[in-house]
Amino acid sequence: MSDLTQRPDLFLGGAWVPPHEPQSADVVEAGTGEVFGSVAMAGTGDVDDAVAAARAALAGPWGAMSSAERAALVGAFAAELKSRGRDTAALVSRENGMPISFSGIVNGLAPAAITGYYAKLGAVLDDAEDVRPSPTGGDTLVVRRPVGVVAAVTPWNYPQALAIMKIAPALAAGCTVVLKPPPETALDAHVLSDAAEAVGLPAGVLNVIPGGREAGAYLVEHPGVDKVAFTGSTGAGRAIGEVAGRLLRPVTLELGGKSVALVADDADLDLFSAKLLGVSMPNNGQTCHAATRILAPRSRYDEVVAAVTDTVAGFRVGDPLDKATQIGPVVSSAQRDRVLSYVELGRSEGRLTTGGGAPDRPGWFVEPTVFADVDNSARIAQEEIFGPVLVVTPYADEDEAIAIANDSDFGLGGVVWSADPDHGLALARRIHTGSVGVNHYELHINAPFGGVKASGLGRELGPEGLAPYLETTSIYRA
Ligand code: NAD
Repeated sequence: MSDLTQRPDLFLGGAWVPPHEPQSADVVEAGTGEVFGSVAMAGTGDVDDAVAAARAALAGPWGAMSSAERAALVGAFAAELKSRGRDTAALVSRENGMPISFSGIVNGLAPAAITGYYAKLGAVLDDAEDVRPSPTGGDTLVVRRPVGVVAAVTPWNYPQALAIMKIAPALAAGCTVVLKPPPETALDAHVLSDAAEAVGLPAGVLNVIPGGREAGAYLVEHPGVDKVAFTGSTGAGRAIGEVAGRLLRPVTLELGGKSVALVADDADLDLFSAKLLGVSMPNNGQTCHAATRILAPRSRYDEVVAAVTDTVAGFRVGDPLDKATQIGPVVSSAQRDRVLSYVELGRSEGRLTTGGGAPDRPGWFVEPTVFADVDNSARIAQEEIFGPVLVVTPYADEDEAIAIANDSDFGLGGVVWSADPDHGLALARRIHTGSVGVNHYELHINAPFGGVKASGLGRELGPEGLAPYLETTSIYRA
C-alpha cells in the first residue's frame, strides 16, 4: 500500500501524474500542529487534463457500459473503501481533529455504505425507462441519461462522506467526476484514488486533484464540465452559484448552517444532555447542521442552562486519536483564531457559563464554550462559528420559539426536544429547514439532506440525491 501521508502526484486519467507546475502543500496534524504529510496541488493545466480525462471516459468505456455493469464496479468500489475504513478514519482525525470514535463511523463506514446504496439504485436505471400514455394517442418514452462530467468541490470537515455523497450517485448515474478536495484534507481524498485504482474503474471515471480556491474556481467554470456539486461555505457557494447561473450549468450547493435545538417545556433534559454532543457539537462543532442555538423556555430556563453548561463542561477534550476523546482540536490555527474571535465577541453578547479560551497544549484546541442569555439578533446567534461554541436563548411561548428558530439566514438542520413525540413532531413541522430531528438528529442514507435559504440549493442522499446526476429526454411516439 502507498504511503498515505505522502502524495507527490495527482490522480487523473487512471494514473498518478505529477502536477505541471511543481506545487505541493504540507498537511498539518490538528492535534499537534506538526506537519505530517505532503500533497501535490493542482494548477489550471492539471484541471484541464482532469476534465479532458473525465470527458474521454464518458465518451469511452464508461459511457458504453450498461447501468448494471457500472453498478457492479461501484459496488466493488464500496468494498474497497470499506476495507480501508479504519486507516481512513485515523487519517481524517489527524487532518481535521475529528475524534476517532466518530471518524470511524462517518469516514470509516459511511462512505462505503453510501456507495453501496447508490450502486443498488444505479443498477436498475436501464430498466427504469418509463412509458407514459398520451391523452391524444401514442405515448412518451422518458429516457434518463447521465448529466455528464461532474465537478465536485468539497470542504475539510467531513471530507470522505461529503465527497462520496457526490461521487457515488454521479458514478451510479453514469457520470464521470473530477473531485477537487481542499489542501487540509487532501490526503484522505487520495484513499478514493487508491480504491478507484484497486477496483479498476476505467481511466478518467474518477479524477482526484487537490487544490486551493483558484483551482476550484477554474474547475467550476471549465467549459468541459456539465454539472457542479459543491459543499462549503455560503460565501463560496454564492460565488459558484453566480458562475453556474451565468453558464446555465446545473449546480447543487450544500452550504452553511446555524441550526436550533428547540427545548420544549416538556423536554426530557436527561435525554437532551446525553445527546448534546452528537446533536449540537459533533466534530468539535465543525459541523454544518450542528444545533448550536439552544432555545430554552423561560419556565425552565435556569434548568436548561445548567444542563447545557454541566454537560459541555464535562466533555473530554483530548487527542483526536484517543477513543475516549469527545472534543478534539479544530482544523487549523486560522480556524482556531476565528473561533476564538467569536468567543471574545460572545463576552459582550452573552453570559459565559463555561469554557471561553484555548487550553495550554499543542494543536488547535478551543475549550467547549457556552454563552447564555444571548439575544437571537446577536452575531454569535446569527453567524456560523464552526467550533465548539453554543448559545442559549430564552423564549416565552412556542410561537416565539418558532419565530426565533426561523429568524435566521440559514435553514439546514434543527432538532426539537419534547417528551411527547406528537408534540415534538408538530413543532418540527413549523421549523423552516431542510432537515429536523425529534429527540435526536441523524442523517439517513435514504432520506434527502440539504438546505433552504442561505444553506443551499438541492439535496444529497436518498433517491433525491441521484436525480441531479440524471437528465431526461422525452421521446413522443405517435
Ligand atoms: P470553503 O467554502 O472555504 O471551501 C470549500 C471548498 O470550496 C474548498 O475545496 C475550497 O478550496 C473551495 N472553494 C472556495 N472558494 C471557491 C470558489 N470561489 N470557487 C470554487 N471553489 C472554491 O468552506 P470550508 O471552510 O472548507 O468548509 C466549511 C464550510 O462548509 C462551512 O460553512 C460549513 O457549514 C460548510 N458545510 C456545509 C455542509 C452541507 O452539507 N450543507 C456540509 C459540510 C460543510
